[in-house]
Formats: sequence, structure tokens, C-alpha cells
Amino acid sequence: MLNLVVCIKQVPMVSELPWNPKTGTLKRELAEGMMNPACAHALEAALQIKSRHGGKITVVTMGPPMAEEVLYEAMAMGADHGVLLSDPAMAGGDTFATSYTLARTIENQCPDFDLVLCGCFTSDSETAQVGPQLAEELDIPAAAYVEQLEIEGRMVRMQRISDNFLEIMEIKLPGLVTIMDRVYAPRYPSLEGLMQAYERPRIKILSAKNLALDANAIGQEGSPTKIINVYSPTAEKKNVVLKGTAKKVVDEIFNKYGEKISSAMGKDLKKM
Ligand SMILES: Cc1cc2nc3c(=O)[nH]c(=O)nc-3n(C[C@H](O)[C@H](O)[C@H](O)COP(=O)(O)OP(=O)(O)OC[C@H]3O[C@@H](n4cnc5c(N)ncnc54)[C@H](O)[C@@H]3O)c2cc1C
Repeated sequence: MLNLVVCIKQVPMVSELPWNPKTGTLKRELAEGMMNPACAHALEAALQIKSRHGGKITVVTMGPPMAEEVLYEAMAMGADHGVLLSDPAMAGGDTFATSYTLARTIENQCPDFDLVLCGCFTSDSETAQVGPQLAEELDIPAAAYVEQLEIEGRMVRMQRISDNFLEIMEIKLPGLVTIMDRVYAPRYPSLEGLMQAYERPRIKILSAKNLALDANAIGQEGSPTKIINVYSPTAEKKNVVLKGTAKKVVDEIFNKYGEKISSAMGKDLKKM
């Protein structure tokens, strides 16, 4: 019987959201939330491990109160328990503060965990840092960007693709893996699963105080990352008129723009 923990982040459903230029954070309240795609793959991997080896799955999310939705969805898919970390004191946390918060929660709520599964990255911030940092916080071995895995005794055997090579790796349990968004296509929540998730909710809502977290290590206070500036890149267009004979114009084009044309064509024009 394995004790599995899946960390799930709720992300905005649309990719282009307005942000608050003062704080550099997204205006999440303007978009509906959804389960981060790679987290859904991590959950599917956990569900398949559970069906082969038995055990229980606890899903953990840190976010605003609406993040609770992803816990219901996870339970409708087959997770057993949910933990929502929602506290204004945790808001604005970077990956460092997030990893600290998730680690203390896992130690508190699932002290005898065997395997923690995370998505390889999120679709809104995409740093891919939380998984490895969380393993550091929990002082356990980890492997990132895992395509497929199997539990063999107290060992996880994994495959991942790195620089076009297929790597086969093993780590001892307890351990942590971050799952790629390719192999474990997430199942749809069943109607029965949805009814059970909403009729018998098994979600704990915890604050920083409940977990006795160090106030200096969470939220903005505990975040060494400072966003200096956020802006939309703008493309500038300039019209240039070349005059003279055809030969002169062509020579000028090649002299001025030869390198750009070569790279766009994928051919070195000088060698042609
Ligand atoms: C009140 C509140 C408001 C927040 N507002 C924002 C916001 O506006 N923008 C924002 O990006 N974040 C917000 N967060 C969450 C937190 O700050 C980010 O989750 C964190 O910085 C992760 O960065 P990332 O997306 O680059 O993670 P990555 O390292 O890319 O994520 C990799 C994996 O780590 C795990 N993971 C990451 N974040 C979480 C999480 N929060 N809960 C559970 N598992 C997680 C998932 O498995 C994910 O697939 C908020 C949190 C709280 C409590």
C-alpha cells in the first residue's frame, strides 16, 4: 500500500491575461481556473500506480480559495483526500516560498509518504523549480521530466528523454518525481466520481497558523525573487526604400540583410 502525494496548481484557463504592473502578478480573478495540464498527468500517473499497487492519494494545492475546484476534480478522478492551502499570508510566494509551504504541509499531513508527484512545469509561470526545490526541502531524492515510471519494491524505475537519449533511472523511496505532459493522458472524471466528490467532500483547508509556518518563509515575505518589470514585447516595423539600378538594389539588400535572409532560409547565401 503506497502513500502518494500529488501537488496540483490551479492555473488560469487563458494564456493572455492582464497583470498588475505594480506587483508583476497576474490578475487571476479575471479568468476561470483549471488544473495545470502537467499536474493532471502527474495525477494520472499516481492513479495508475494506485490501481497496480494499492494505496491512497492525497492531492495538495496552494492558491486562492477558488483553487479548491482542482481538488474536487482530482477526487472525481480518483484521489482520496485533498488539502487546500489558502491564506493571504501565502499569496505572492515565489517558487522558494511555495516549496517551503508545500514541504511543511506534506510533513504535517502525510508524514509517512512514499512518493510525491508534481507536474514538470506550470502553464502560467513555467519555472519548473517547485518539484526539485520541494525535494530539497523534504531531503529526499528526485528525478525531473519523467516520462514513465514503475514501482519495484522500495524503488521507482523511470524513463526520461534527455538530449534525444532515453535514460533509465532509479531512485529510492521516499522520493519525488516531476511528470512530463505526454504519456499519462489524464482520464475524464466520471459522473459517479463527481457526485461522490461533491456529496462527500474530503478536503481540509489549512492556513499558515494551522501548520505553524514561519511567517518570514512564506508569501511575499519569504520570496527572494523580486519582479523588476513586466511588459508586452512590441515588434517594430520600418519601411526602407532602396533606389538605383536593379544590381545596386540587390547588392545593397545582400550587404544589409544577407545574414537575416540566410538564417530565415536556413542557407548561407555567401556559399550559393
Ligand atoms: C493566495 C495565493 C495567491 C497566489 N497567486 C498566484 C499568482 O498570482 N500567480 C502564480 O503564478 N502563482 C500564485 N500563487 C501560487 C504560487 O505562488 C506559485 O504556485 C509558485 O510560485 C509556483 O511557481 P510555478 O508556477 O513556476 O511552478 P513550477 O515550478 O513551474 O511548477 C511545477 C509543479 O510544482 C507544483 N506546484 C507549483 N505550484 C504549486 C501550488 N501553488 N500548489 C501545489 N503545487 C504546486 C505542481 O505540481 C507543478 O506542476 C498563489 C498562491 C496563493 C496562496
